[in-house]
Amino acid sequence: MIATPDYRALLDTAIAEARQGLAEGGIPIGAALYARDGRLLGCGHNRRVQEDDPSIHGETDAFRKAGRQMSYRDAIMVTTLAPCWYCSGLVRQFGIGTVVVGESVNFGGGIDWLREAGVNVVDLADERCITMMGDWIAANPALWNEDIGED
Ligand SMILES: [Zn+2]
Repeated sequence: MIATPDYRALLDTAIAEARQGLAEGGIPIGAALYARDGRLLGCGHNRRVQEDDPSIHGETDAFRKAGRQMSYRDAIMVTTLAPCWYCSGLVRQFGIGTVVVGESVNFGGGIDWLREAGVNVVDLADERCITMMGDWIAANPALWNEDIGED
């Protein structure tokens, strides 16, 4: 039996990615994919603006950086913000067992849908994430709506 990792410590990696994205002039959402034993598989951040690529969300970036994995059942997707439908679909498609979200105050995404499907969703309600995303959305409403597909 492997002990549950310190989720807030894992979140630090996703927050560092989000802050890097912010420094690059991008949307500050970061993510990291971990193995059950706390080993980092991959991490990344939203690069819609930087790469002119709407398919690079924090979660998809971390997922791709992790490369091929035999199974995701014991993997932990850690993200600064509740995953959108696109990223929630990725979680379900590949059977990622646990999703740790920094916050769901600014965006609820697909977390109820994930829980209904039996995914272990842990919401840390982290103040750093709530403030970072809230401030950014307030300053960039049009770009935010573009990212989540709202006209
Ligand atoms: Zn997404």
